[in-house]
Amino acid sequence: MLYRAIKVRIYPSSEQSQKLTQVMGCARWWWNYALNLCNETYQQTGKGLSQVALNQVLPKLKKSEETGWLKECYSQVLQSTTLNLTKAFKNFFEKRAKYPRFKFYHGKQCCQYTQNCQVVENGVKIPQVGVIKASIHRLFDGQLKTVTITKTPTRKYYASLLFDTEQETSEVVLTGKVVGIYLGLKDFCITHDGSKTAKYANPKYHQKHQKNLARKQAKLARKKKGSISRQKARKLVARIHERISNTRQDFLHKLSRKIVNDNQVVVVENLNIKGMVCNHKLAKAISDVGWGRFVNFLDYKLQQKGCLLVEIDRWFPSSKTCCNCLYQMSEMPLDMREWNCPSCGTHHDRDENASKNIRTEGIRQLSVLGTRTAAVRAASRREGGEVRPKGGRKSVLRHSPVSKDAPTSV
Ligand SMILES: [Zn+2]
Repeated sequence: MLYRAIKVRIYPSSEQSQKLTQVMGCARWWWNYALNLCNETYQQTGKGLSQVALNQVLPKLKKSEETGWLKECYSQVLQSTTLNLTKAFKNFFEKRAKYPRFKFYHGKQCCQYTQNCQVVENGVKIPQVGVIKASIHRLFDGQLKTVTITKTPTRKYYASLLFDTEQETSEVVLTGKVVGIYLGLKDFCITHDGSKTAKYANPKYHQKHQKNLARKQAKLARKKKGSISRQKARKLVARIHERISNTRQDFLHKLSRKIVNDNQVVVVENLNIKGMVCNHKLAKAISDVGWGRFVNFLDYKLQQKGCLLVEIDRWFPSSKTCCNCLYQMSEMPLDMREWNCPSCGTHHDRDENASKNIRTEGIRQLSVLGTRTAAVRAASRREGGEVRPKGGRKSVLRHSPVSKDAPTSV
């Protein structure tokens, strides 16, 4: 089944936004209560609580005098909060995410409806709230599965509409171009498609807004806690963060769209982004470029087209290897932008050479695995599963020991 989602801005009336705030408050309260309950149960018994066990707590809470107001909240919203908490724990135990955290009033608020929602003319119909005005610019055929409503710290409302398009994911047929992408910091990415190399500059959004952000944050810090002027200052800071995130997302969408339109297979390195962010000198720059999100964008756009994302092993020596004769340098410092191969004498641009090697390795993997296995692997990556070649086979171009030190290909 192919799910597709669309996020639209919604414009609730003041009455509706009051109701939504109430529902979000209930969802947040239940999240925090359930999380606390999980923590306590774990301390006492050494075991966690299942989704079913958590949901069984809800009727008792609704009957109790103190928490009877939970009855006012649409019950599906609370149950989907339970589901999301269970998922958060699962992601934590499978080492994909941090331990679930408590939610606060300040910050992004959300609630999720899993049933009885409807897209109508000029709006979205939500149980208990009614039709909320929305600007829906496109729709998908299929069944509306969930509606997630979020409220940003700048008090804008959005609805994410998830559709089950009821299409089978198309069989991958590969006939077109294969592109290798090297993700860098100096340039955002370098692509090589067999004939052409293209470089895309890194926009460095955070850096651009840094001064403004620092000034407004300093202002916020001086405000008295609980005052109205503090609220206003907080909103100004939130607005800058929002702008940075929007422009970055826009850039990533446009670039991934262009690459997907031009190619059938996209090969990237499986980057250990978390590990690299630990390098303090590079942490901010790496968080700013948004590689992880970029790869996700590429992946889902390719999937929609019936094309393929191939991820190669992160230990693959893409920067160190000569793409011409496969000679492998023992070392390749980060600041060495150009080099000459000692074996065949070819002059290399560091990142261009890396993108060529990534492409070659992707093609080799596809020919070994076949497209079907590669597609299955891409799907398992999407599910958050561990993507590792069975039997621990490492990607190398030739038989040589694979270095286990940190990748120099940053
Ligand atoms: Zn060479």
